[in-house]
Amino acid sequence: MSDDSLESIASEVIACVKCRLCETRRNAVPGEGSSAKVMFVGEAPGEQEDCQGRPFVGAAGKLLTELLQSIGLRRGEVFITNTVKCRPPNNRPPRKDELAACRDYLERQLEIIRPRVICPMGNSAIRVLLNPEGSVSELHGVLCEQGGVTYFPMYHPAAALYTNALRRVMEEDFRKLRGMLDSLD
Ligand code: URA
Ligand code: SF4
Repeated sequence: MSDDSLESIASEVIACVKCRLCETRRNAVPGEGSSAKVMFVGEAPGEQEDCQGRPFVGAAGKLLTELLQSIGLRRGEVFITNTVKCRPPNNRPPRKDELAACRDYLERQLEIIRPRVICPMGNSAIRVLLNPEGSVSELHGVLCEQGGVTYFPMYHPAAALYTNALRRVMEEDFRKLRGMLDSLD
């Protein structure tokens, strides 16, 4: 039995200097939630997240929280984290070496939580977790199994913030997720 824990991962992340993003972050953002059936993985902390040290607390986070509520889930009932735990300067996409340096934390969180479903949100998370060539427009809203793990890719809520059509797609994908979770009970 491993004695790894979400708390010890969070302490390591907060002190981590494994990639250049440690030089510009205000706060690292390990992720939050507890043992959960569903885990959501975004791209990287933004400005609000960097200020507060918590994932998805800005505008995209508000939408994520609303989408969760729309299917009867509270944030505390799922685990929410990102492919990299520190904010890239000016919100640029995380670079390959940063993703590689940070990957181990995500793997360990997955190993501890062992969610029934992992929802990578947007291309960065889909490419890190599922398929390096994957694209959210092709993969979203469809369950796929890989290495004994079930994935349900979704759009990133930031993409849906200003595009109503995408927001409706996300709402529909969340309804599908609800159906899936109900079938697991
Ligand atoms: N966008 C992300 O990908 N992650 C966050 O935590 C916030 C915004
Ligand atoms: Fe460490 Fe990840 Fe932050 Fe890089 S992004 S410093 S690997 S916690």
